[in-house]
Amino acid sequence: MSLPALPPLARVREPRSRARRRFVPRCQVPDCRARACTAVSIELPAAWEASPTYTVLTVQVGACREHARELRRRSAVLIDARGDLHSLLAIVEAAADAELARQRRAPTG
Ligand SMILES: [Zn+2]
Repeated sequence: MSLPALPPLARVREPRSRARRRFVPRCQVPDCRARACTAVSIELPAAWEASPTYTVLTVQVGACREHARELRRRSAVLIDARGDLHSLLAIVEAAADAELARQRRAPTG
């Protein structure tokens, strides 16, 4: 009497299946498939009103070296613009008030 041959055992960890599970962080800029090498913190102003103070929502984005530099630069420009907004609106308002006062003084024809 002989024992029946056993079917070969399935390998639990095939090299291919292991490679499929490996996570490679990619740059979050669309169309860039480079490996993300750093996390960039981006501060987004919560409101664009005339107030001199404001809150930000900070998000972190994985990016490649090239896009990390660009994201940091653009994020800084955005925060600078939000910081300048109050002063710029005050200048525009003062100019509009001066123009309105000039029109009221001018004789109407
Ligand atoms: Zn990139």
